[in-house]
Amino acid sequence: MSQGTIRIRGARQHNLKNLDLDIRTGELTVVTGPSGSGKSSLVFDTLFAEGQRRYVETFSAYARQFLERMDKPAVDRVEGVPPAIAIDQTNPVRSSRSTVGTMTELNDHLKLLFARAASLFDRVTAQPVRHDTPDTIYAQLQERVGSSDVRLAITFPVELPASATPTEVEQWLSVSGFTKVQAERVVDVSAIGVALGSDPNSAKHARKAKGRSSELGSDPEATVSKRKVLDVVADRFRLGNAERARVLEAIEVALKHGCGRMTVYLLDAPPTDVGAEPVIWKFSTGLHCPESNLRYTDPIGSMFSFNSAVGACDTCRGFGRVIGVDYGLVIPNDKLTLRAGAIKPIQTPAWKEAQDDLMRHAEAEGIPRDTPWNKLSPEQQHWVIHGSPHWRGQWNQHWFGVKRFFEYLETKSYKMHIRVLLSKYRSYTSCPDCGGARLKTESLLWRIGSKADADAVLAPKQRFMPQGVRWTRDQLEALPGLCLHDLMQLPMDRLRLFFATMQLAQLNPGVSEADHKTLKLLFEEISTRLKYLCEVGIGYLTLDRQSRTLSGGEVQRINLTTALGTSLVNTLFVLDEPSIGLHPRDMHRIIKAMQRLVDAGNTLVVVEHDPAVMLAADRMIDMGPGPGERGGQIVFDGTTADLRNADTLTGAYLGGRKTVGMGFKRLVAASTPRLILEGACDHNLKHVTVQIPLQRLVCITGVSG
Ligand SMILES: [Zn+2]
Repeated sequence: MSQGTIRIRGARQHNLKNLDLDIRTGELTVVTGPSGSGKSSLVFDTLFAEGQRRYVETFSAYARQFLERMDKPAVDRVEGVPPAIAIDQTNPVRSSRSTVGTMTELNDHLKLLFARAASLFDRVTAQPVRHDTPDTIYAQLQERVGSSDVRLAITFPVELPASATPTEVEQWLSVSGFTKVQAERVVDVSAIGVALGSDPNSAKHARKAKGRSSELGSDPEATVSKRKVLDVVADRFRLGNAERARVLEAIEVALKHGCGRMTVYLLDAPPTDVGAEPVIWKFSTGLHCPESNLRYTDPIGSMFSFNSAVGACDTCRGFGRVIGVDYGLVIPNDKLTLRAGAIKPIQTPAWKEAQDDLMRHAEAEGIPRDTPWNKLSPEQQHWVIHGSPHWRGQWNQHWFGVKRFFEYLETKSYKMHIRVLLSKYRSYTSCPDCGGARLKTESLLWRIGSKADADAVLAPKQRFMPQGVRWTRDQLEALPGLCLHDLMQLPMDRLRLFFATMQLAQLNPGVSEADHKTLKLLFEEISTRLKYLCEVGIGYLTLDRQSRTLSGGEVQRINLTTALGTSLVNTLFVLDEPSIGLHPRDMHRIIKAMQRLVDAGNTLVVVEHDPAVMLAADRMIDMGPGPGERGGQIVFDGTTADLRNADTLTGAYLGGRKTVGMGFKRLVAASTPRLILEGACDHNLKHVTVQIPLQRLVCITGVSG
C-alpha cells in the first residue's frame, strides 16, 4: 500500500476553528476529546462527507438523482480523500425482513451453498432423493446385490388402456421390439402419478406432481378410469456375470422407454415367505423419489431465501408470523378455573351467554370446571379451545370452542366495538404453515452436513420439524445434517463450529472440478464471515434475529465485519465509538478487526474514548480544549505514548495524573446503612449474598451473561 496523505485545509464545519490537518492513509487514526469538542464535525461532517460526496460525483447524473444529496462541508479544501464508508451505530433498518443473516450477507451465501451442496429428503418417506443416472444406478445395484448371485430383470413401466386385450399387448410389444412382460397390474387413472407405485394413498401427492412430470406421455385428464401398467423387460442377467456395458445399456433403455423410471425385479431372491411380494427395487432419474412417487424441482438459490417468492412460505409471505388470536392473551392467568373466568374475553356481561354455554357443556362432557387451567389435561384444554368433537353447528347442543367464538367475531368485525375487542386478543403468532421457518416445505426438505456434523452443534431433539411432512420425530432425528431453519436458529459461534468440522469433500461427491472450486470458495466465504463475527464478540446472535432488535454496538460490529468480508482496499473507513457495548474483556477483538482493515490497505479514522483503542492507534488526535465554542481545535496530534505526557485533559487521564471521580468519592464505612441480599439464586446466580451501601452510587459490572 503506497502511503498517501489526506489534506484538510480550513475546516470550519460547526465549531471547528479553521483547522488544517493531514491524515496519513493506511493508518489507524483515533480522534478523541471531550463531548462537543468537534470530533464528529471533523470526522463525519467534514472528512466522511467529502469522501462520500466525491464518490457520488463519479456516478452519472442519472444515477446521482437516486442517491442522497450531500451538502458540501464548510471547508476550503480536502485533497486525496479515498472513497469513504461510515460504520456507525445508526440502524436504519426497520423491516422485519432484515435479519442478522441478511445484514451479514450470510443468508445469500447459505442459499447458494444449499442450492449446490444440500441433500434432499422425501417429504413422505424421509428417504434421500438423489439424481440417479445409469452410472449411479449401476453402482447401487452392485452395492445391493453384493456377492450374491441373484438374477435381475431390468424392466420399465408402460401404460396401456385397461381394456387392452392380450392380443393388443402382444401387438404393442412386437411394434416396440420387446418381448417379455415381467408383471402386469391395473391402476386407477386418477392415481396416474402413482400408477407405478404401490401406495394408493399417495395419489394426491401424485396429482400435485402432475404437470411437472410426464407420466409415460399419458394425458392426466383422460376420461378412461383404469389403466393397465406393464413392467416390460429390457434385459435379464446375473449382475456378477454381466458386463458393465450390457448392464448400463439395459438401464439406459429402461429409463428411456420408462420416461425416467425403471423397476428391477429380483428373479430368484433367497426364499422368503410363500406368497410374499416379489422383491423389487425402483429407480428414477431426476429428483424423484421412487417410493413416494414425488418429484422435486432442482434446487436454485432463491428457493432458500424468504425474501424471494420462490422460497417464501405462501401463507406468511416469508415473515414467519401471521396476525391471529393469541391464546396467551385469551387465557392470561392459567391459575384460574373455567368457572372463575379463565377464558378472559367471555367474562364481560355482553358475552355472559358464551360463559354460560361453556359451563353447561363442560359439565355435560365431564370437563372439570373448578380445576385451574394449568392443571387441565391437554385434551381438556383442546376441548375448550377447539370445541366439542361432536360440534355440528348447533351452539345449544355442543360447545363451539373459543376458536369458533373468535371466528364468529371476525364476521362481525365491521362493528367498531367488536374490532376493539378483537384487537385486544390478537397479536403476531408463529405462522401455522411454516412454523415460523419463513420457507416453503420443499425448501426445508434440503439438509446440509453429516449426522456427526449436526450432532456436534444441535441436539437431535431440538431440530426443526418442517410443517407438511409425514416424518416421525425419530425419522427426523436420524436424518443427517441440518435444514436451513436449524442454521438460522443456531448462535453464530455454533454455526462456525458446524462449518469448521464439515468435510467439504463429503458434501457433494462427484461434482465437477469447476463446481467443486465454486463450492470451496463459497464455503471459505461463509467460514471467514462467521469467524469475523465471532471475533468481534457477537457470536451469540442467531441469523434469524431481526435487525431492528439489535443494539447500536451490535449493528456497528456487524457492519465492521461486513466491511472486513468485502476485501475493500484503499477505502476510508470512519467509525463512531466501536467500543460501545463491549466489555473490556472483548475490546481486543474489535481492535483486531480494525487492524485487519488497515493491514488490507485501508485508512481508518475512529472517534473513540476507550483507552484500549487509543493504545492501538498509529496516531492520536485530541480535540478540545472544551465543548462547544471552547472546542474545535486540535490540542494534541501525535502518538499515544506522547499523549500520555501531553498537557491536555485526555493526556492527563491517559497518563494517570487524573482519575475518574477524583474528589467525589463518598467512602463506605462500616456504619453506612446497606441493603443486604442473601442467597440470591435466580437464573445462574449461585447463592449470592451481597451488601449494597445505601446513599451511594453503586456500580455492578461483569462480562455479558
Ligand atoms: Zn409461513
